[in-house]
Amino acid sequence: MHVRGTVAGEVETKTVSTSYGESDLAEVPLRIAAVGDEAARTGATTRDAGSITDGGTSSDAEGGTIADADGSDGGTSAGAHLADGHEPTTVTLWNKWTESADYLEPGMELLVTDAAEDEYQGETRYKTTGDSYVVVEPSFLVNVTSIRNWVECPRLYYLNKLSGVPLNYPVVKGTLVHEVFGDLLRGRDLAESIDARVDERGLELGLLGETADAVAEDVRENATAIEGWLEQGRLTEEDSWRSEQLLISETFGIRGRADAVRRGAPVELKTGKNLKKEPRFKDKVQAACYALLLEEHGGDVDTGTLLYTKNSTLKRNEETGDLTPAKEFSMGEGLLKFVVRQRNELAAMEVAGDIPTGYEGSAKCEYCFEQDTCMVVSGRLDQESKAGQIGQALPDEELEYFERFYRAIEEERREVHREYAKLWEQSAQERADDDRALIDLEFLEKRELEGGRWELRARRTSGANSKIREGDFVLASDGHPVRGNSELAIIERLDDEIVLTADEPVEVTRLDVYPSELTTDRLLVAMHDFLLKGDERRKDVLFGRADPEFETVEETFIDNNDAQNEAVRMAVGAEDFALIHGPPGTGKTYTIARAIRAMVERGERVLLSAFTNRAVDNALEALLDQIGDVIEEDGVASPTQRNGDGEAVDVVRVGSESGVRDDMEPYRLERSGNPEDRVAKLQNAQVVAATTATCGSRVMKEQAFDVALVDEAAQLTEPGTHAAANLAERFVLVGDHEQLPPVVRAENDLTESLFERLVDLYPEAGVMLDRQYRMNQRIQVFASNEFYDGQLRPAEPEVAARTLDDLEGVSRDTLPPELRDPVSFVDVEGDGGRYTDGEEAARIADLIETYEAAGLERSDIGVIAPFRAQVSEISKHVPDDVAVDTVDRFQGSSQEVIIVSFTATGTLEGPIFEDYRRINVALTRPKRALVLVGDSRALASDPVYKRMLEWARA
Ligand code: SF4
Repeated sequence: MHVRGTVAGEVETKTVSTSYGESDLAEVPLRIAAVGDEAARTGATTRDAGSITDGGTSSDAEGGTIADADGSDGGTSAGAHLADGHEPTTVTLWNKWTESADYLEPGMELLVTDAAEDEYQGETRYKTTGDSYVVVEPSFLVNVTSIRNWVECPRLYYLNKLSGVPLNYPVVKGTLVHEVFGDLLRGRDLAESIDARVDERGLELGLLGETADAVAEDVRENATAIEGWLEQGRLTEEDSWRSEQLLISETFGIRGRADAVRRGAPVELKTGKNLKKEPRFKDKVQAACYALLLEEHGGDVDTGTLLYTKNSTLKRNEETGDLTPAKEFSMGEGLLKFVVRQRNELAAMEVAGDIPTGYEGSAKCEYCFEQDTCMVVSGRLDQESKAGQIGQALPDEELEYFERFYRAIEEERREVHREYAKLWEQSAQERADDDRALIDLEFLEKRELEGGRWELRARRTSGANSKIREGDFVLASDGHPVRGNSELAIIERLDDEIVLTADEPVEVTRLDVYPSELTTDRLLVAMHDFLLKGDERRKDVLFGRADPEFETVEETFIDNNDAQNEAVRMAVGAEDFALIHGPPGTGKTYTIARAIRAMVERGERVLLSAFTNRAVDNALEALLDQIGDVIEEDGVASPTQRNGDGEAVDVVRVGSESGVRDDMEPYRLERSGNPEDRVAKLQNAQVVAATTATCGSRVMKEQAFDVALVDEAAQLTEPGTHAAANLAERFVLVGDHEQLPPVVRAENDLTESLFERLVDLYPEAGVMLDRQYRMNQRIQVFASNEFYDGQLRPAEPEVAARTLDDLEGVSRDTLPPELRDPVSFVDVEGDGGRYTDGEEAARIADLIETYEAAGLERSDIGVIAPFRAQVSEISKHVPDDVAVDTVDRFQGSSQEVIIVSFTATGTLEGPIFEDYRRINVALTRPKRALVLVGDSRALASDPVYKRMLEWARA
């Protein structure tokens, strides 16, 4: 039986005499959540429902706090019985498992598999048996590569986490050899695979100064080992193979992608050499992790194979030792348990937020390749380390900053891990209700593509919403993302029919959002680069030790808007940074474009960045308008533009095909092709446009700019902003901290943007664009007074006076009197639902009919609701061509008419109403008419909403 629960007090460890001699034991007081074969193993019932719901942070990018706020604890699976959960039960961990007990802290989660029950003084207790595994924090899914690094040295694991994977040739070659291996397993021709894979990596190889031919030759030499091994005749037709299989263990808290699985056993590929008979220990550890993963998926693994591809490139007369590339070893239980104990140590340290010193392991620093880095990082960050420290520690405020943000980013990482756990803790329906899965799909067909990948098609059987979007990586499964057959797939098309591409032909009936740690990984690296590699002057300014400086610029860039002109002057003249505060509709995209044009004309290389692809493309489009004629090559727009002086300006958009808007595709940097051409394209570009997330990629991190201009800066975390700013000598942040804050899951220091902090610290370094080109005068009054000190005003009389009458075929006279004013309030008592309100939805459907009858196009109307559940409810009542969405999805856009559904009866509850920035976004989307629909009693219970009500009813 398996026992799972929460550590309820101090763990007592002792040594006792047994019939086998002296033995160690640890007594763990455990508040038991589940005992049983299934539920306890998988954590279907957990200690604390709150810990696996994300509590509905108001900053959820996908806007919907409903799904998060009403998440469920997943229920109790059949076959489990629940202890009452109040009195802790003693669980005894014997012998080596006491090592794992050393890391336990009250509040941590513990799982003991194959435990035995016994009675002691009338009390039921549990203890480990010879078959048991003890897993600390099983919901924290540790990556196999992390365990491998940890075993090498825990401090090395930490250093890797801080600095990220660099762009270097061994890393890229390793990836190429792995890709070719996968292709060979899928039956692709070797030569074709090498050519195609090397071509795909053209840009990276170009940045490394490599040529395609030399790399292809190098990969070919390594691939010989793979081919030779495959041709050894040891495989038969019946041998089952699987390449790059994503495996998740809900028992051991491990995840990873096995290079290959042959006859149910893991095969790992290493591009290095190994002249010993046995595989390297750290490589065995990696294979053992996959063995654990495979066993959980029903396998019985007794061997592991390591394939050292470099061995086949060595000459027997030059090297001594065992040159055989493939080395098999038997998978003993001792190794598997060792691996779990190592994983436990790592998970406990991560969950406690501790930093490894290196003393946890036995690696010898004098043999470590990273010794210098280790000593420098330890010295600069004043951290204890086995390697010792060199260099001067950072000033106290920087050390404090590092600790604060390290903690915050790691908290964010733990939130991502909670998302992983939901893959198995929640039922399919609960995941669908949370918009995290599309379920009950009808599988249509699979088709093999060139190169061995597969195209999969499925059809939706319901119109359910989800967070899944085209271009996303998802877990495609035949029923369950963890227990079933599942594969990482890319969504190529998402409408009623869904088209995916994947490495394996999964008969897909369900898609799950696949949580990613990539963002948190990159935040950490960006912070590390800022503090440890960053420019000292920049740190002086950002830490308040020196004031930002500006060169005086007299030129007039925009002659009909003083604030915009001043913003461009500041952006151009900033020696350190400048801030452009752009309330809704104030023309910040135009201002950005004008500023970049001015910089380009001064010969500067500019990075144009933003939080979302949409904002990057909008700014790029505006810039292209600014910098003049598009030069055509063979009738097609080329990425080369002319600036005001008639000189050519190369513009490049870095991003994925699915992320970049179709009309910006001609500017998108193709990564595949001749390395020299690819790199020239990027290096010669005077303007490079990419999201801030992409700025943290290996390719972009190699680039250097004179200036980085970052839009949507108020939606970025501080380290997220550094990811772009680190690449440039100076930076300009553009945003509005009175609108949506950074998108994070945890509530901590990440919720304040660098933009907002700098606006407070150096108000004189910024300018607010104060004239808006969007809203009728009456509509903008509330937002102006409430959020912008009354400074926001219509840019022109035409804007101030705009009404629905201006639209062709529309007459306000045909509307009922209560809807003729640009702002109206419709009082609906509501049906009392917490996250949905059918009465409001029905009333909104009537309003839309009324507007249609007055001549409005449906596409001119937008409906904003606070919760995704209410978005779904309203969508059921209104025609498809009316845009209905959450505030988050509407930020950055506008409509002729906006209807806001408040979905609150009696009182206002929840973070969504507490954060007034959301209401600012909602109320500033319309141009000509705004209708507020809600319960006046509920709204009047809060002073800000009360003022809003008074304004709407005036
Ligand atoms: S130098 Fe020593 S402590 Fe640092 S990573 Fe290497 S082995 Fe670990």
